[in-house]
Amino acid sequence: MDIKASNDAVARRIAAMVERIAGMQSRDEYYYNLPVTELHGGSKVVVNGREMGMYASYSYLGLVGHPRINKAAQDAITKYGTGTHGVRTLAGTLDLHRELEETIADFKKAEAAVTYTSGYVTNLTVVSTLVGRGDYVFSDKLNHASIVDGCLMSGAKFRRFKHNDMDSLERMLAEAPSDASKLVVADAVFSMDGDIIDLPRMVELCRKYDAWLMMDEAHSVGVLGKTGRGIEEHFGLWGAVDIKMGTLSKTIPSVGGYVAGKKDLITFLRHASRAYIFSAALPPAQAAAANEAFKVILDEPWRIEKLNANTQQFINGLKERGFDTMLTETAIVPVLCGADETAYAVTRYAHEKGLFVLPVVSPAVPVGMARLRATVLASHEPEDIEYAMDVIAEAGKQVGII
Ligand SMILES: *Cc1c(COP(=O)(O)O)cnc(C)c1O
Repeated sequence: MDIKASNDAVARRIAAMVERIAGMQSRDEYYYNLPVTELHGGSKVVVNGREMGMYASYSYLGLVGHPRINKAAQDAITKYGTGTHGVRTLAGTLDLHRELEETIADFKKAEAAVTYTSGYVTNLTVVSTLVGRGDYVFSDKLNHASIVDGCLMSGAKFRRFKHNDMDSLERMLAEAPSDASKLVVADAVFSMDGDIIDLPRMVELCRKYDAWLMMDEAHSVGVLGKTGRGIEEHFGLWGAVDIKMGTLSKTIPSVGGYVAGKKDLITFLRHASRAYIFSAALPPAQAAAANEAFKVILDEPWRIEKLNANTQQFINGLKERGFDTMLTETAIVPVLCGADETAYAVTRYAHEKGLFVLPVVSPAVPVGMARLRATVLASHEPEDIEYAMDVIAEAGKQVGII
């Protein structure tokens, strides 16, 4: 197929995207897929030979490169090599996987846990295994793409309620037949806005309408709760969430995803979810690294305290400088810019001054709501954060948003 010459629909779709990317590159608006060559604890990186302050990483507790975690991964390679050569059900299960799942279950104060090889795949497979035709799934409008895709794939009736609006959720729950199975699913911390789900009301509604409750804790594990255990600890609602989903790729410096919950639920997923049955097991190094990381979080509580202090400094400092940081209360801090071009201009200036931040523009967010989406980490130092805020403020003044 000649992509440029063809009028085939697929060829046109490919050509349109290629043109759009080339246009962004020529206008100096393309900040994606930048290769990082050195990672100094995650908060400073080297890009194109230049050191930059990292404000786009999800290593919230600064665990990437932690000596204990690196050593666990290295020991696992020495003992088992680098691959598992099979699915968990057949020859792919190692004692490391069992250990990791026990660690996760303990960390989440759940009976059991099951792991998958990516967080994206975890949502896809878990939602579509639990619900299907004839069932109902209720999803927050701002939920992560992997949840949306899981809902679509499930074949269940898919209802999207207004973002973090429990009245909207209740209306939809009330409209569904009372005898239909229902699943309510939401991010615990929203990945673009940094705000926290209203779990107490959501739990009440799930009890009232007899619905299952699933939380995606990609951005809340290590971030929320005194010991970093996430949304249930944050609200003191232990056991309120039926399906506690999370990733091993953000605070936990590995890759993969998990669900923690009741023993029977986990047994069911282990034997019914297709991503477990038909996709190879986590590599030994990644399983061992993740296992050690959960232990480090509990052994080094100062990281959570430092993340909280840094988050307060960053959000309050940006507000004092006149920025709109929307409803964030967490380490994900949107800096509202308005027009897409404004967000690009602020990003360009920040990159010139050595800050690695990224713009989020339409269609990822509504037109007129383009923003920088900055993250703050436990490994940032107060003076780094002060510098970053000053740079963003200089840019903000140049483009007239403050
Ligand atoms: C990142 C993310 C995922 C996907 O996790 P991966 O481990 O990167 O595949 C799922 N849900 C949310 C809310 C996320 O932010």
